[in-house]
Amino acid sequence: MNIPRRRFDTLVIGAGGSGLRAALQLAHAEAKVAVVSKVFPTRSHTVAAQGGINAALANVTPDNWHWHMYDTVKGGDFLGDQDAIEFMCRAAANVVVELEHAGVPFSRLDSGKIYQRPFGGQSRDFGGAQATRTCAAADRTGHAILHTLYQQNIRARSHFFDEFFAVDLLQDAQGDVLGALVIEIETGEPLIIEAKTTLIATGGAGQLFRTNTNARINTGDGMAMALRAGIPLQDMEFFQFHPTGIAGKGMLITEGARGEGGYLVNAEGERFMTRYAPHAADLASRDVVSRAIYAEVKQGRGCGPNADHVLLQVAHLGEEVIRKRLPGIREMAMTFLGIDPAKAPIPVYPTAHYTMGGIPTNRFGQVVVPVAHGEEVIPGLYAVGECACVSVHGANRLGGNSLLDIVVFGRAAGGHIIEYLAEHRYHRELSQAHVDAAVARLSRWERRGGGETVEGLRRELQGVMETYCGVFRSEEVLQEGLAKVLAIQARLDDVRLRDTSRVFNTARIEAFELENLVDLAVATVSSALGRKESRGAHSRVDFPERDDQHWLKHTLFYKQGNTLEYKPVRTKPLTVDTFPPTARVY
Ligand SMILES: Cc1cc2nc3c(=O)[nH]c(=O)nc-3n(C[C@H](O)[C@H](O)[C@H](O)COP(=O)(O)OP(=O)(O)OC[C@H]3O[C@@H](n4cnc5c(N)ncnc54)[C@H](O)[C@@H]3O)c2cc1C
Repeated sequence: MNIPRRRFDTLVIGAGGSGLRAALQLAHAEAKVAVVSKVFPTRSHTVAAQGGINAALANVTPDNWHWHMYDTVKGGDFLGDQDAIEFMCRAAANVVVELEHAGVPFSRLDSGKIYQRPFGGQSRDFGGAQATRTCAAADRTGHAILHTLYQQNIRARSHFFDEFFAVDLLQDAQGDVLGALVIEIETGEPLIIEAKTTLIATGGAGQLFRTNTNARINTGDGMAMALRAGIPLQDMEFFQFHPTGIAGKGMLITEGARGEGGYLVNAEGERFMTRYAPHAADLASRDVVSRAIYAEVKQGRGCGPNADHVLLQVAHLGEEVIRKRLPGIREMAMTFLGIDPAKAPIPVYPTAHYTMGGIPTNRFGQVVVPVAHGEEVIPGLYAVGECACVSVHGANRLGGNSLLDIVVFGRAAGGHIIEYLAEHRYHRELSQAHVDAAVARLSRWERRGGGETVEGLRRELQGVMETYCGVFRSEEVLQEGLAKVLAIQARLDDVRLRDTSRVFNTARIEAFELENLVDLAVATVSSALGRKESRGAHSRVDFPERDDQHWLKHTLFYKQGNTLEYKPVRTKPLTVDTFPPTARVY
């Protein structure tokens, strides 16, 4: 097959906040950048981020980056790498001001400064009073950031391949990555994009679970591409369930609703969070609040005819505050539930939200893999954003820290790539053999005759993940889940695409996405089986305690043979003292 080729200095796969922030850095440095996105860039999931972005600006209450760092380490249940966390929290104020100067229309305080709201897990003075650290553009912060970054990229002349689907990375014999094979979705035509450096910024994999807050496109493609390229995935057992999804539907009601003063009640009208987190109550970290809601429902204090959810009360904030600070939430409640939150509470239940695990990187966004004596960087390969695991979120991400992660590490990776390009000025030859290997996968869904449909298998997978790998886990249930996921993986070969000569190209894309999801499901369940302790979002009922003696380490899952390895947490920050593990109470 003679496939057309294009050459760029850098290929950025993904046009969410992380990919666009990196691309902007590169375009400003006159690098030739290609940005590939399977949807129009401003439809990337970053657009859906509601609550805001954390930075210790101290516009409302006293604050500093070191407190933010403490909260992030504690929020992640001490599994985060403290060098990366320090780097992120120190950079936060700068990146937010940069965003403001780039044109992000943040909400304002009366003083004219950027508006900030309190969010879960935020404290002053290392665990003291609630801090107010989340910078917001009403409840549409991601929308504001993504559109601004896109417009700036257009101005800087980044080259966009909109609605192109990346299938696989292209590698040479040593495993170095020299670009990617992509398909133009509309025509189905393949294209080879050769690049001196490749950055994976493909976002999370919320579609692993039936009830989730994620866009339908969040199928973790980049993570699965890395797995197929022999790169392990780190900490996949840690998946965040957000406490306040619209009950039965899963759409997100931002933590900002509680930040503004909203609270949860059970069927008895009790504000139950004070029992679970006496100090932080409704603003405890997400894993804590999600488990509390499960416990209330399980113990018979759920609301509604089926006693299967709790209620989020915001009416007392008054119509004006709701319209000004939470307009998107109001609209969603009215559209999907017919409820005006200024008059009645919103039924909520935990919903799958965020992939803490991902492609292992260092704080420059370089992909790092373990070798016999330590770690090695894969030259020219980078990953940032939700698909990466740097790891700043550890075992549980704090609200407002992901938008921060994507801009901080997008910018850092962009900066590092510029240096790399200065030293590596020429393209490396991509041999036909390596192209052929990737191209072979294009025909993966042709000549299919079995009886499985993509949609059917995808739903089944999501149901299995929700039932067998949800908020609470145990050896027995996970083993059963793994067997089911592996059985689904085997059935992939029987997937039938309707007559391929007539089938619309998106059907083929959805089949690729399903295969990616299945690979990630195996990674997630296997990693969850491996970790025999409870930490952050990973709750094992058979190992209810955190075990720092044996488990203060990161999981690495390899596709070859579905094997696990472990590596130590980087507990040493860059300039300050380590925060040693302590009991995590809110
Ligand atoms: C509803 C919701 C609300 C949130 N609210 C907040 C919040 O208030 N604060 C906060 O900090 N975080 C929030 N988060 C989390 C945060 O928004 C995300 O983690 C973050 O925006 C992810 O950015 P990203 O750049 O990594 O990926 P995304 O924005 O998801 O972008 C991924 C990109 O990759 C592209 N892509 C993927 N696969 C392929 C492929 N195979 N080929 C080509 N292109 C591909 C997509 O087209 C897209 O452009 C929220 C998340 C959700 C779901």
